[in-house]
Amino acid sequence: MSVFEKNPVLKAVFDFSAEDTARAEDMKREKIVSLMEEGRAVLLGNPNHKNVKPVLVGGGARVKVNANIGTSPLECSPEAEFKKLKIAEESGADTVMDLSIGGDLDAIRTRMLSMTRLPVGTVPIYAVAKRYADKGRKPEDIDMSEVFEEMEKQGEQGVDFMTVHTGIDLKGAYYGDKCGRTLGIVSRGGSMLARWMLKNGRENPLLTDFDKILNIALKYNITLSLGDGLRPGALSDAGDAAQWQEVINLGRQAGEAAARGVQCMIEGPGHVSLDLVEAQIKGIKSLTGGAPLYILGPLVIDNSPGYDHISGAIGAAAAVRAGADFLCYLTPAEHLTLPDENDVKQGVMASRIAAAAGEAAMGRKSALNIQKKMSQARQKLDWEAMKEAAVDPSEIDRRRKTHKDKKECAMCGEFCSVKLQH
Ligand code: SF4
Repeated sequence: MSVFEKNPVLKAVFDFSAEDTARAEDMKREKIVSLMEEGRAVLLGNPNHKNVKPVLVGGGARVKVNANIGTSPLECSPEAEFKKLKIAEESGADTVMDLSIGGDLDAIRTRMLSMTRLPVGTVPIYAVAKRYADKGRKPEDIDMSEVFEEMEKQGEQGVDFMTVHTGIDLKGAYYGDKCGRTLGIVSRGGSMLARWMLKNGRENPLLTDFDKILNIALKYNITLSLGDGLRPGALSDAGDAAQWQEVINLGRQAGEAAARGVQCMIEGPGHVSLDLVEAQIKGIKSLTGGAPLYILGPLVIDNSPGYDHISGAIGAAAAVRAGADFLCYLTPAEHLTLPDENDVKQGVMASRIAAAAGEAAMGRKSALNIQKKMSQARQKLDWEAMKEAAVDPSEIDRRRKTHKDKKECAMCGEFCSVKLQH
């Protein structure tokens, strides 16, 4: 059976978007279908998300960038998050994730879905954990059947992709929690599930009932983002038993999902020393059958609060070169607070630069062409053409405001070496 026979909803999404996707990615339709058939690319798009613009991830498609937004219990202004959604879009994010854990989560999510054509992702266990927290109860008390119900509800609402921590098992939770990690378990969802398993002495229901998750995903063409609940949160924890225990499970589940025609991506680290990034990415790709890899960072140092978007972009560029497909942004606010509007813009830009750097290093034609275009515009001191090639054209106008009538810029003035060549 073909992937479209197994997943007719994906076929419907592909049929209405194939022409645009093929043009945007400079790929033939047949190539995209065969990548999806092999589980090496996914097309994000739930038809219940009205006007969604499907986005292809993996298999050599342009590397995509996701922006995380959403309320927290300490900073809960839905209006501020809606503004950040707009800024993420304007800054060039390809997708957004609503990670809200404060306020009316259904109202926030449905409003975001109605506001944007970008695919929207969520982490359904957050909504369940929040309901328990509102009643003074803990994640270890969760009736896990509510996670499946939440997935079903969010699929109906139109959520396009969901993080589900299906790979963390009892053994991995034990390794992550009790076996000498510097920082233990740093993923929110991973930590909730580890607490649940260790307290109840039972295996992760998202792992044992993976089939139920596949059934829900198939119904709405939800792309599963198999979460890295045991990702390293410190350089010294990278590549330990906990991390790989989970990756092995994710690889098996990616195979099961592909066999059912369910689209899935794998989530990756975390904090990883620069010299280990390539081995980590290649190892994860190899163990998960080449499924699209969605990474958070990796941050290449631990001590850059306030500048984690830079630390993350350095790791992300190396990771793209090694095969990562999808970058979740980091902002200057990472590890500190919710990002503000400027942080969102800085985070998206840093990830877009990382993606471009990795793609240029891989020799991808489109990435090299745009660099060439910028250099040719620079050689002509053609500021309008530079704006067309720049990652952020608004910066060119903003910074040239005081001398915009000059051919050269204010760095060297009349000693402009480029002007001297003319
Ligand atoms: S003034 Fe200096 S920095 Fe500016 S364009 Fe000319 S050479 Fe480049």
